[in-house]
Amino acid sequence: MSTKEQSDAEDGHITTLHEPVIIPRSEHGISRGQFSPNALKVLYRLKDGGYEAYLVGGCVRDLLLGLQPKDFDVVTNATPEQVKKLFRNCRLIGRRFRLAHIVFGREIIEVATMRGHHESTEPKKGAKCNISQASEHGQLLRDNVYGTIDEDAQRRDFTINALYYSIKDFCIYDYADGVKAIKKRRVELIGDPETRYREDPVRMLRAIRFATKLDMSISPATAKPITQLADLLANIPPARLFEECLKLFLGGKAEANFKALREYGLFKYLFPGLDKILDAKPGGLEERFITQMFVNTDVRINNDKKVTPAFIFAALLWFPLLKRTEELMQREQLPHFEALGAAMNQILSESAQQVAVPKRFTLGARDIWHIHHRFDKRGGQRAYRLSQQPRFKAAYDFMLLLVDSGQEDLKELCDWWTAYLNADVNGQKMMVKSLGGNNRPRRRRNGGSKRRSSNKAADE
Ligand code: ATP
Ligand code: MG
Repeated sequence: MSTKEQSDAEDGHITTLHEPVIIPRSEHGISRGQFSPNALKVLYRLKDGGYEAYLVGGCVRDLLLGLQPKDFDVVTNATPEQVKKLFRNCRLIGRRFRLAHIVFGREIIEVATMRGHHESTEPKKGAKCNISQASEHGQLLRDNVYGTIDEDAQRRDFTINALYYSIKDFCIYDYADGVKAIKKRRVELIGDPETRYREDPVRMLRAIRFATKLDMSISPATAKPITQLADLLANIPPARLFEECLKLFLGGKAEANFKALREYGLFKYLFPGLDKILDAKPGGLEERFITQMFVNTDVRINNDKKVTPAFIFAALLWFPLLKRTEELMQREQLPHFEALGAAMNQILSESAQQVAVPKRFTLGARDIWHIHHRFDKRGGQRAYRLSQQPRFKAAYDFMLLLVDSGQEDLKELCDWWTAYLNADVNGQKMMVKSLGGNNRPRRRRNGGSKRRSSNKAADE
């Protein structure tokens, strides 16, 4: 072996596949009792139907690490259509990856057909299907070439994810030294990292997510090309990036993921406006705010409390929104309220070019921003009415977060609201009365018709 080859191997530069290392039941400690009963049902039904069936990927990896798997993924040599014939509760999904979903109430067991080599353009003899398509950047657009288990292992992303648990003999089949990588706590791609990232740039995000989630490091060879290839994320559909963002931010490791995304230069391709602002002011209020938002998100997730993506996206787009509002006020001479409305539309539609946040969350973010801008209008019934808005609590938390991150000019207002929320009805009335000044309600020309405002109406 030349010195170059040796150092590449030590780096794990090209992790090639080999005959599987077979770990018998007596040596791996994973038992069927740890699986979801529905996953077991699927495995047995496939086996009894004459097919091969394995648990694969994250669930095997997590069980070996002593973690509770998030979901159980099954792989088989049955085609999606053959799987569908075996299960009444099956639906076929996906274009890029055609998959079978077996639905058991709220639990879905995903059954994938083993993937073969996509390089082949000629239909393979005996291959059940051969549809594979790559873009000019080497990105796989369609990947429905079916194959054998060892080919399937090669198509997996990381060595720790190419572990198969067989329902036939209860052994673990390890094709890429995944068990060794688990012991060394190392996230490493199978094959040549650059090629693998080009095939699917989302693997760059996955490398980070697995490293933080599993408390592992990314092997040098797997880490090295990321910064240079980060711009490939621009070719990923925004809907897929949204899904990945949810996994990055709602998995209990959002703060660590945020830091790593910034370090590797990936954040820029998810939230370019914010990224620029953060670059301009290292350690500034903006960075403290986003970091603290993710710290709080992690605490809530790890305490099984609900987190709404609307809050996260409201925070991520907040500073770009303020900047744009300011620009519109100056450039277009718009009054504040109009500039704010226009800036919201612009920022949300620009951000959707990278990350397609569904409308139900962008509406939530708009609500939070609108309420925020009305916190200082407290006269008459306004404080009460504002406090009744469905997103009031989120907007109040948003303000607390800004103050905690060092936004001094909001402190007095924030303290007022804290006291207001802790006061009884009479106390609240007194607080409003003693406001005076420009918080006195304007007299309504129509004599003050009682508008039981819906959330939207009140914001306009
Ligand atoms: P978790 O579910 O905990 O996020 P996971 O490893 O199960 O982790 P999934 O996204 O559920 O991740 O994917 C299941 C398996 O499918 C992975 O373990 C991996 O083997 C394979 N896989 C998923 N996405 C890719 C990809 N982009 N490229 C190659 N293989 C992938
Ligand atoms: Mg999974």
